[in-house]
Amino acid sequence: MKVICIGRNYADHAKELGTETPTEPIFFLKPTTACLYPGQPIRLPDIPGEIEHELELVLMIDSYAKDVPASMALGLVASFTLGLDLTARTLQNQLKAKGLPWEKAKAWDGSAVLGEVELPMTASTDLQAFTMELKKNGQTVQKDTTANMIFPVADLIAYVSRFITLEPGDLLFTGTPAGIGPIAEGDVLEGFLNGKRLLHATVGKR
Ligand code: ZN
Repeated sequence: MKVICIGRNYADHAKELGTETPTEPIFFLKPTTACLYPGQPIRLPDIPGEIEHELELVLMIDSYAKDVPASMALGLVASFTLGLDLTARTLQNQLKAKGLPWEKAKAWDGSAVLGEVELPMTASTDLQAFTMELKKNGQTVQKDTTANMIFPVADLIAYVSRFITLEPGDLLFTGTPAGIGPIAEGDVLEGFLNGKRLLHATVGKR
């Protein structure tokens, strides 16, 4: 099992990062040790600078697939939830400036926070018509619709499977909309999909 994360998949987020809108999907991996399962507090890593939240739609893959066409890609999705792709932003910016890989900023233990409610994929599920919202301490900080993804889910799965074989249990984080921001000890983070709370996590001690 692996965690595949898509970068810059919403135009407004690419803009807030000061980067270009990609013409092909950008992806990177997190190890399984990055997964933070429901009920566990977020543990801030020992990394200087800001640690930021990125709310993302997360898909669970339940089949092996390589070079899957986009027309068949949604058949690989068993269920979905919301997740947080936690990012050590200050460090990531330093790594990016030097052209170095991002893993130190993105792949640390507990950096892939998973929602406690998982919804099954059904024939009527439209993954591109969800409203996603993140509240930090009761205030809305991120809100957008998955209709605004630059590359829809089917294209993301097809694209990634050209490079990497997908396996049962893989998680795909599909990118964050605008509104990323820092988290600190004591913060309460709640993720809502179409108004239903799927994710709830508190930030523990550093
Ligand atoms: Zn992300």
